[in-house]
Amino acid sequence: MHHVDTLIGNESLEEIVESCVQTIETPGFADAQAWKAEAPGRAIAGCFPVYSPVEVFDAAGMLAVGLAGGGNRMEIAHADSRFQSFVCSIVKSTLEQGMTGMLAEFDALVFHSICDPARNLASVYQRNFPDKRVEYIHFPQNLGVPEAIVFLTGEYARVATSMSELTGKYPSADALRGSIAVYNEVRALIRRLYAIRSEAPHRLSARELYPLVRYGNLVAPEIHIDVLTRALAGVLQREGRPRDRVRAILAGSFCEQPPLDLIAAIEDAGCYLVDDDFLIGRRFFYADVDASAEDPYRALAQAYVDGSVPVAVKHDLRISKSEALVARARAHKADAVIVLCAKFCEPALFEYPLYRRALQAAEIPHIFLEFEEKMWMFERTKTEIETFVESLLFA
Ligand code: SF4
Repeated sequence: MHHVDTLIGNESLEEIVESCVQTIETPGFADAQAWKAEAPGRAIAGCFPVYSPVEVFDAAGMLAVGLAGGGNRMEIAHADSRFQSFVCSIVKSTLEQGMTGMLAEFDALVFHSICDPARNLASVYQRNFPDKRVEYIHFPQNLGVPEAIVFLTGEYARVATSMSELTGKYPSADALRGSIAVYNEVRALIRRLYAIRSEAPHRLSARELYPLVRYGNLVAPEIHIDVLTRALAGVLQREGRPRDRVRAILAGSFCEQPPLDLIAAIEDAGCYLVDDDFLIGRRFFYADVDASAEDPYRALAQAYVDGSVPVAVKHDLRISKSEALVARARAHKADAVIVLCAKFCEPALFEYPLYRRALQAAEIPHIFLEFEEKMWMFERTKTEIETFVESLLFA
C-alpha cells in the first residue's frame, strides 16, 4: 500500500486518489500517530464535525485530526449501551473508536454545539475517559449581534489556553496567523477543485474529489497541500468529454459521512454531482480568513460569523437556508437536488421540509434519501436515483 506522501512527483491523478482512498478506508490514525512520534511535545486533537477552528490547535503545536465516524467496517459493540437507539451512527461509532482504544494517542477531543447528540457525546466521553482533555466549543446562537464575534473570540482563546496546557505552547498571534495562512491554502485548493468540478464534472468526479478532501482529516496541512496541489495539476491535464447526465447538487451530509460507495452509486445512477456539503468544515469559508489581522483569534471568529457557508447546524437568523439552497442550485446550474441525510440526524431532517417547500416553489426537482454509516448495499439507493434521473431526462 502506498501512502500519498511517499508517492513522489510523477504519479497520476488516479494513483493519488487511490492512495487517499486507501488511507481513509484504513481504520485507525497511523499518520497522526507517526506525526506525533516525530518530535517531542507534539499532541493530537480529535475534532468532531462539523467545523472546528483547526488553526488554534495547529498553532498550539497539535495536529487537528478530523473525526469522521467509523465507516462501514466498524462493529458497534460497546457504544450502543451508552446511547438510545434512535441516535445517528457517527455519535456511536466515535464513542466506539474511543472504547476500542483507537483514540488512545489522542490528547484532546473537541466537540461543538451542533446538536444534542454531539453535546451528549462530549459528556459521555468525559465520563468514560476522565484523563482525556475534552473541549466543547460553543458557537454563538445569534450571529446578528456584535457580541457574537466577541464571544467566539473569547471561546477560541479559552480553547487555546486549554490546549497550551497539553503542549506547553500558547499560540502567539504570529503562530496563529501562520496557521491561518496554511489552512487558507488548503481551503483555496479545495475551493479550486470544487470550482473545476462544477464547471467540468467530467474532469473530476465526486468519488475522486471526496477522498482528496477527506485525506486532510488525517494528515498535517502541509502534506494535504502537497497532495491537493499534485491532484490539481493532474486534473488540469485531464481531458474528456461531458456526457449526457443530470447535474445535481447534494445537501444534508455535512456531519456524518456517507460511505464512499454510496457517493459512487449516485454518480453511477447517471448524475454529475456538481456540488455537495460533504466535510463542509474543511472548506467552511467563502474566502480566505484574514491572515494578517492584528487579532487573529478575532479574525477566525469573524470568518465564522460573517464569512461561512450556511449549514443546518449553524444558527443564522439573517439568512434562509432553504433560499440559500435554491441559490446554490442555480449557481451550479443544477437540474436537480439530492437531499442525502444521515438517519436520525435531527438538524438535517428538521431542515428538509423547508428545503422541500423552497425547491418545489422554485420548480427544482429533488429526491430525498437517508443513509447510515454501516450501509453495505447500495443497489436500492442506486435504483431510486436511476428512476429519478430517468424521470428528469425523459420528462
Ligand atoms: S449526524 Fe446530525 S445528529 Fe448526528 S452528530 Fe452530526 S449533526 Fe448531530
